[in-house]
Amino acid sequence: MLVNSKDLLLKAKASKYAIPHLNINNLEWAKYILQECNSLNVPVILGVSEGAAKYMGGFNTIALMVKGLITDLNIEIPVCLHVDHASSFETCKSAIDAGFTSVMIDASRQELSENIRITKEVVDYAHSKNVTVEAEVGHIGGTEDNITNTSTNATLEDCLSLYENTHIDSLAPALGSVHGFYKGEANLDFATMQKISDALPIPLVLHGGTGISDEKIAKAISCGISKININTELQSVWSKAVRSYLEENKDAIDPRKIIGSGEEALKARVEEIVTLFKTKI
Ligand SMILES: [Zn+2]
Repeated sequence: MLVNSKDLLLKAKASKYAIPHLNINNLEWAKYILQECNSLNVPVILGVSEGAAKYMGGFNTIALMVKGLITDLNIEIPVCLHVDHASSFETCKSAIDAGFTSVMIDASRQELSENIRITKEVVDYAHSKNVTVEAEVGHIGGTEDNITNTSTNATLEDCLSLYENTHIDSLAPALGSVHGFYKGEANLDFATMQKISDALPIPLVLHGGTGISDEKIAKAISCGISKININTELQSVWSKAVRSYLEENKDAIDPRKIIGSGEEALKARVEEIVTLFKTKI
């Protein structure tokens, strides 16, 4: 069943667990993640970056593909189809019109007033279509989709201001996590995370989940994080498995076998993530 993120994340916040946001890149990844989460009986948020949307053909293709997989594979868990880091109102509108149930508008590189203006425009349209909206305050740096940025941490005041002026459904405050691999340990500002969580009635989102220690993930969840985005480490485990398959099978040409050689590793990592996040239905 395709749902927006509202009830999933509010329940997660109240019961102190996190919903996994797992980025997809193609039909196979969507299928593996849906099958694994369905067999574990946990809800999932399928994240689609602008780059991944372009790669797969566009938002309509992806929405129809995910709806088709849910029907054909008898997927019974709640599934949220979410645009990750949309950079404009137009991108969010295209995704919503195509059937996405959740969007992230990332205007975090703008001044706060402009971030608020763009985010509010997205919220007004999204809420009229029963679609949930995530926004970002401060700026989460690192590398994703071949885009590299530096970080700026969020402040409580800016988070309150963005929430009060837009009524977003969830917030990603930049508090030290980065996209891609970490150089050294992730340095998360848990004190500010807790303050923002206490001050706002909405769930918080942690981006850059790859490479954060299990202890810090547990601590982040206890400080109000209800959605954790995982992208890089799925790419890492999948490509490692495919690379070793190709090295052992030099004559392999069947694309189903080549892509599918990463299935087991991807599914195993999804199970570990869900266990770590203590995700519940
Ligand atoms: Zn992100």
